[in-house]
Amino acid sequence: MNTCRDNSSQIRQIEMKVAKYIFNSYIKEKKIQVNDQEKLVTMKEFMAKIFLKSNGLVTQSELLKEELTTISKANKDYLLNPDNYQKTKKTPFGYPDEFRCHHIIYKKHKFTRCSNKIDEENGGDMYCLQHWDSTNPYENEYNKLVDNIEK
Ligand SMILES: [Zn+2]
Repeated sequence: MNTCRDNSSQIRQIEMKVAKYIFNSYIKEKKIQVNDQEKLVTMKEFMAKIFLKSNGLVTQSELLKEELTTISKANKDYLLNPDNYQKTKKTPFGYPDEFRCHHIIYKKHKFTRCSNKIDEENGGDMYCLQHWDSTNPYENEYNKLVDNIEK
């Protein structure tokens, strides 16, 4: 029986073949619009672009969009059924904004908001038990990114 690793390397080989085929059939020697400029894209650039995503690597803005979407789902769900969440405040989408810790974590070169519940006793209405007494050095950076996405 194949292990997961064998499977994923087989899948990767197929993906590479398909990507090369697509490049050779549709991309090679054609000018493509990139940031308002027409340019030729090399196979290397093309593959890097494609496999960045299938690697499971997400960009900061993808991660942030996902995070904001999840929080807004949690907000909606909580507002619709507050009685369901009296005890834990946790919806299937995690904690709604008002109960989610405001600490910003810098992880793998990206910013992400802590997903723990605020600890009312120690953290007031801002922070979880883990972060109530730590500084929040990435908060401004994170808020700037959020502003850019919400524009
Ligand atoms: Zn936290």
